[in-house]
Amino acid sequence: MKEYNTKQRERLLSLFRNNPDRSFSPSDAASMLPEVGQATIYRLIPRLLREGYLMKVHGAGHETLFQYRDPGKCRTHLHIRCMKCGCVSHLDESVSGAISSAIMEGNGFELLNSSILEGICPECRKAGQ
Ligand SMILES: [Zn+2]
Ligand SMILES: [Zn+2]
Repeated sequence: MKEYNTKQRERLLSLFRNNPDRSFSPSDAASMLPEVGQATIYRLIPRLLREGYLMKVHGAGHETLFQYRDPGKCRTHLHIRCMKCGCVSHLDESVSGAISSAIMEGNGFELLNSSILEGICPECRKAGQ
């Protein structure tokens, strides 16, 4: 039973890890992983969230979506959220560093890496043209 749980957890985590710039609702995840089952997914998501492997993001319709978070790397870079579709992108460490030092120099503020910038993602920009 224990091993079975570990496998389900690993499948669910891989779905998120392989799509780091996409967010999923629990039912999206269930339809992509029919072998895991919706009840298990609903049980596993809060655990992955507690363990720091997922972050909560808000979709366009205000539904709660979940997206992959690297417990180590996501502490050292900034994220940017699309105001239209709610997707969150992980910014490169060099980009994050440049933004933080520009703010530090210009305004004297130390920007926290937990900050989430807002913008319009490439897909939504294309769709809006
Ligand atoms: Zn990240
Ligand atoms: Zn978008």
